[in-house]
Amino acid sequence: MDLSLMNEEQKRAIRTTEGPLLIMAGAGSGKTRVLTHRVAYLMEEKDVPARNILAITFTNKAAREMRDRVAALIRDGAADIWVSTFHAMCVRILRSNINYLGYENSFSILDPTDQRSVVKDILKRRNLDVKQHNPRSIIGFISDKKNTLIRPKQSAEEAEGYLDTLYSEIYHDYQQILYRNSALDFDDLIMLTIELFEKEKKVLERYQNLFQYIHVDEYQDTNHAQYQLVRMLAEKYRNICVVGDSDQSIYKFRGADITNILNFEDDYPEAAVIKLEQNYRSSRNILDAANAVIGNNTERKPKALRTDRDGGPKLTSIVSDSERGEGQEVVRNVLDLSSKYSYDDMAVLYRTNAQSRAIEDALVKSNIPYKMVGGMKFYDRMEIKDLMSYLKVIQNPNDDISFERIINVPKRGIGPKTVDKLKEHGRHTGASIYEAIGESDFIGISKNAVVKLMNLNDMLDNLKQKSKYMSVTELVDEVLADTGYLDLLEKENSLESRSRIENLEEFRTVTREFDKENEVSDELLFTFLSDMALVSDQDGVEEDSGVTLMTMHASKGLEFKVIFIVGLEEGIFPSRRVMFDDKELEEERRLMYVALTRAEDMLFLSRADSRMIYGKTESNKRSRFLSEIPEELVLGGQEDSPQPIASGSFQMNRRGPKKRSRVITNNSGTSFTVGDKVEHRKFGEGIISGIKGEGDSQELDIIFTTVGVKRLLANFAPLTKK
Ligand code: ATP
Ligand code: MG
Repeated sequence: MDLSLMNEEQKRAIRTTEGPLLIMAGAGSGKTRVLTHRVAYLMEEKDVPARNILAITFTNKAAREMRDRVAALIRDGAADIWVSTFHAMCVRILRSNINYLGYENSFSILDPTDQRSVVKDILKRRNLDVKQHNPRSIIGFISDKKNTLIRPKQSAEEAEGYLDTLYSEIYHDYQQILYRNSALDFDDLIMLTIELFEKEKKVLERYQNLFQYIHVDEYQDTNHAQYQLVRMLAEKYRNICVVGDSDQSIYKFRGADITNILNFEDDYPEAAVIKLEQNYRSSRNILDAANAVIGNNTERKPKALRTDRDGGPKLTSIVSDSERGEGQEVVRNVLDLSSKYSYDDMAVLYRTNAQSRAIEDALVKSNIPYKMVGGMKFYDRMEIKDLMSYLKVIQNPNDDISFERIINVPKRGIGPKTVDKLKEHGRHTGASIYEAIGESDFIGISKNAVVKLMNLNDMLDNLKQKSKYMSVTELVDEVLADTGYLDLLEKENSLESRSRIENLEEFRTVTREFDKENEVSDELLFTFLSDMALVSDQDGVEEDSGVTLMTMHASKGLEFKVIFIVGLEEGIFPSRRVMFDDKELEEERRLMYVALTRAEDMLFLSRADSRMIYGKTESNKRSRFLSEIPEELVLGGQEDSPQPIASGSFQMNRRGPKKRSRVITNNSGTSFTVGDKVEHRKFGEGIISGIKGEGDSQELDIIFTTVGVKRLLANFAPLTKK
């Protein structure tokens, strides 16, 4: 195989095929490219059969890209390599083996909305107030547990305090409900695969023998469960190649554990370690800026990263009066550059999705095409969710979560009381709603309702039969027709119903694309549904052309000629939530490093004097990350001289620092002042940002890491100082 285009270190990495290998290297140094070539090399030069090679990527899109690139390098067989995300791999493994764990092979995968409704149901049954117990925090709690492989039982045993105990109990209920529904959430996909491997050694062995050569890209962002999974799979052959960059670890909030990569050599003492130090992506000015910024992190091993590319144009700083002005400035520059670059070469990166609106508005007004990543909103729409629920029920009739959604949609006269009776019956007998309907004659449901329910089940049985020999598009059409769903929308003929019909039509483009690539079989619907469930943040990218808009998180691994980073203000980026926590701040700085290193030729750094966000107007200081970029790299220098930022200072408001002097003492004698780090029994860690009122009604404004800003009575809030 021709490796002449690779540098010496890259060649060594490609040729080191046996034994554990760690490739630790900075952004744009060709890590992903090395992985691709290594896979091709194994097949072409070492005659390793494609099916014995596993390559794990961070997104489905990256998996597709890797497969295409490998295909271009080899004669044939690329289709048989396992290139996929962790989740997609686990779906495939579980599909053939999950029965060992008592689930049905036709299991469903829950989306976040489904998870929410399960949690809400549990809260209701336990007479707990949804306002007091935010389902999102509970889902987060459960996810954290699963990512660290803690089952409900262990969680309960280790629980400390009321809330921990309660959430552990909810976790237990949640897991039971999912089990009864043969439903898995995203984190289950990994956790249950590990459980399967622990329980059925034969199955594990089969996959160990299958995956003789294992590759993991973006290893710095694996969580504990994923780490464990890789370890189990690699245990027999130990041909495990992981690549990553500890400076690009940005998914701690999803459980990513940077120690996985840092401790690789402890796990595999015989590991070869290769460093790649040449960056092929970015011009020197861009790289210098990125290196300068990341150099401010203390918890890192310094590493060299150089480029042979010339300096390139300096970075451009943009200052606007408002978020709208920022949008206009971005557009002005996009138009300026459009003679030299195509829209596809440009991307706008922001910290949170909420910032996209202003940029979108400006682009729309100027008629510039754009594509949004993470624009998953489409699948959240009511009619799409309804249709998906039908498909899920057809696939897995025992999926109560989806069944409940469609039982009376479109309206067919099945009231909430009837549904309650069916569920009640299920609670006593373990039957799903679908099964309970089969017994509905005997459970105190009116004759009239029984007939309707039976009709519904008949229709679903019928559709299930059809699903075995129809394409997904044909099945979708049958569902929309048989249920009367489309008919109803057509009769309604309102602006809204017309837009719903359009969305359903848009959904058919999705199914048609899928049908083009998949043959009709028993597996078809399952494959379609799991593909849909696995669509991740980064896969919202549509293939049509335009300027790309996405969060910095979603930009990982990608590259563009021109990058705009917007919203470079204290409180926006770094985000307010993390500003006062050194560890979190370092993670945020790594995110800046990821964003900067996406750029090949040009980099625009934008901030606004004030901006409207979440319905409020804010004026924030320039981001400290801007100040960390050496002035000489920026066109005309930095526009105003960098202000030193004292750590823990609250000068996020341009109108001057808040007073720090006021100290109050609560009933139990603890004194607090602005800037203090505190721990709240329920909300966890936070930092005091303001003190209000007098005497007994003294209040503290506290910025909590998990729940944001809260105003609490100083005397009553269960706070301890940290
Ligand atoms: P990231 O950390 O951002 O994921 P990476 O280390 O995975 O980056 P790649 O995406 O593999 O880097 O490579 C960055 C760019 O450099 C790509 O466009 C790639 O094709 C190019 N590249 C890598 N190695 C070489 C080389 N030896 N010669 C020419 N171009 C190269
Ligand atoms: Mg990469």
